Amino acid sequence: MIETKEIIETGWNLDNSYARLPKSFFTRQNPTPVPSPKLIIFNDSLATSLGLNFLALKSDDGTEVFAGNKIPDGALPLAQAYAGHQFGHFTMLGDGRAVLLGEQITPKGERFDIQLKGSGETPYSRGGDGRAALGPMLREYIISEAMYGLGIPTTRSLAVVTTGESIIRETEQPGAILTRVAASHLRVGTFQYAAQWGTTQELQALADYALKRHFPEVSDDENRYLSLLKEVIKRQAVLIAKWQLVGFIHGVMNTDNMTISGETIDYGPCAFMDTYDPATVFSSIDIRGRYAYGNQPNIAAWNLARFAETLLPLLHDNQEQAVKLAQDAISDFAELYNINWLEGMRAKLGIFNEEQEDEALIEDLLNMMQKYGADYTNTFRALTFNKLSDTMMFDTTEFTQWHELWQARLDRQQEPKASSYQLMQSNNPAIIPRNHRVEEALEAAVKHGDYSVMERLINVLSCPYGHSPEQEDYSTLPEKSDRPYRTFCGT
Ligand code: AMP
Ligand code: MG
Repeated sequence: MIETKEIIETGWNLDNSYARLPKSFFTRQNPTPVPSPKLIIFNDSLATSLGLNFLALKSDDGTEVFAGNKIPDGALPLAQAYAGHQFGHFTMLGDGRAVLLGEQITPKGERFDIQLKGSGETPYSRGGDGRAALGPMLREYIISEAMYGLGIPTTRSLAVVTTGESIIRETEQPGAILTRVAASHLRVGTFQYAAQWGTTQELQALADYALKRHFPEVSDDENRYLSLLKEVIKRQAVLIAKWQLVGFIHGVMNTDNMTISGETIDYGPCAFMDTYDPATVFSSIDIRGRYAYGNQPNIAAWNLARFAETLLPLLHDNQEQAVKLAQDAISDFAELYNINWLEGMRAKLGIFNEEQEDEALIEDLLNMMQKYGADYTNTFRALTFNKLSDTMMFDTTEFTQWHELWQARLDRQQEPKASSYQLMQSNNPAIIPRNHRVEEALEAAVKHGDYSVMERLINVLSCPYGHSPEQEDYSTLPEKSDRPYRTFCGT
């Protein structure tokens, strides 16, 4: 009897443009096989947008791919080389626990890196085990997808599998692998690596590659490397403003964790601010608050200055001229950031046009929030729905006076109030991944193998501007704790 087996196409359509860069930028490296992989979570809609067939990939065969046990057709697995400033100190890094399988070309012709994170040792592991734990990989899945829902440029998460192996951290943890999807994994640190250890030709090859991949519209400019610098600065100004507007704290803004594409990358100790305070830090290793909420724009500018330095040999033959071009470009960051931030803040307050005093109106509100310990997200939400109760700040005369000024400001614009409130709804999220909710989901998943809490959370986070009734539940604050919330890198 002839057995018929339906073969469903998986949809892999992989290219390997990064592997065509000079050899020094990577090492060919297969993932290290794992004993018994199990698919924990899979992103159907992301798969579909990539041209992948989720039904085929959610099979045992698909799981083998996301575990690194099977290499899909067209893949050319490699570990990328990069360097970076970690907390201000320059060092050689590279993919120590990740491999790039290749770049998926979508039905629309877009190109996305498919990377396995937690896939075993590489030449860049520096003594690490090359593995990742389930908790931190699910955390990256939840928060990166929440960021995507919030409309913030980000790498995304396609799948998490457990490996069947335990790994040793402070305690024994289930090992896991995350499939990360990114516009690319080019980092400021990739350029630092080229500038520090490569030839000018290698640096130029990298810059041309970045231009072609992310900024084709400026790749024929007279000084295309200056255009590259300016475009990266623009994207980061947009990105960091978006972070600030939703209260996102990255936690480890090392230069290796800053992309050239302008996507948020590396969800380690990140978390969302609750009570408004620019000094907020969650990461247990950020003792001095280098990466505090209010410091993120300054750090972005610092990182971009490191990026500009790497490009100096390409910017101009005359070094002085090159430095001048770089400095001028970098000094634009603060203003670009501020324009983006103000635009976003105006939208959060239902303001359509521009007035000189808007910045003061916004600052006054933020200062009040800090003074009265108001929750950042819920304050804007309360303003959006005019539910001004339940918090100390709303009962003060200071707030009443501010509210009058704000209402008068809205009255001075042409648009009716209803339009203002609509604008506010689409700029003030109903929910963010609150720390206690994320922890609760991870605990259920990792300790009890119950993934339903996480699935519900991911579901409500997918449409944060929806303001649906089921989101109401997720806006409540954690009970006051004596200990501040702390996050860990989870490496
Ligand atoms: P991260 O904190 O994820 O930005 O990682 C910083 C550097 O440490 C990168 O070069 C990582 O590849 C490397 N790294 C992190 N965790 C591990 C691990 N478990 N094994 C090997 N390398 C790691
Ligand atoms: Mg990193």
